[in-house]
Amino acid sequence: MFKISLIPAFKDNYIWLLTQGNRAFVVDPGDAAPVLARLETDGLRLEGILITHHHADHQGGVAELKARYPVEVFAPAGESITGVTRPLSGGESIDVLGQSVVVMTVPGHTLGHLAYHATGALFCGDTLFGAGCGRLFEGTPAQMSASLDSIANLPDDTRIYCAHEYTEANLRFALAVEPENSALQQRVVEVAALRAVGLPSVPSTLAEEKATNPFLRCAEPAVIDAGLQHAAVNRSKTAIFSAIRGWRNNF
Ligand code: ZN
Ligand code: FE
Repeated sequence: MFKISLIPAFKDNYIWLLTQGNRAFVVDPGDAAPVLARLETDGLRLEGILITHHHADHQGGVAELKARYPVEVFAPAGESITGVTRPLSGGESIDVLGQSVVVMTVPGHTLGHLAYHATGALFCGDTLFGAGCGRLFEGTPAQMSASLDSIANLPDDTRIYCAHEYTEANLRFALAVEPENSALQQRVVEVAALRAVGLPSVPSTLAEEKATNPFLRCAEPAVIDAGLQHAAVNRSKTAIFSAIRGWRNNF
């Protein structure tokens, strides 16, 4: 299995660096400069780029990286991505540094959004975050809810490599949804300790997210009650998700 490490970018983006010996892939290089610097420092050769969705903070560095390395660019077929060489529509498996990686379609944040599932690791872009989920810029609540369900069906020990450090703010909201959730209270303390010394709060595990992330807990009684208090039209998972997501937008 390739090694995974992070390259911080912009204010709160994480570009994931996958390495096997001196061979490298990156996930969502919104900016080329920190990636080029890291490749140089570590003596790595970039072979491929995985893109989850079309937003500039996820693909802005592709052109510059391609100009420097002859890389394959894997990206959603349905979105406008610079320099794509391998358009993907989901369901296929691709080879990443000798590992088989399954491509999942997870529409919601954008309509073509993809997630990449390697053994024990999910690169999910702006779909699932630590204690939160992406905004619905293009998709419907039903689409995002179904996308989160497909992620929730992965093994519990799957590490969640999301693209932003948003966990602390998300946890403040999660506590408003479920003030009595003891796993959530404990996570607030753990994440505050990490962030206080400048450490990332990601990756988490899927098990942690299922225990603390309100957007994966829309069938839990406490979250249903909170959704109903925030204009959910009924108790269905999609209606509760929609209400909680709407509340989060104005939190
Ligand atoms: Zn985005
Ligand atoms: Fe983003």
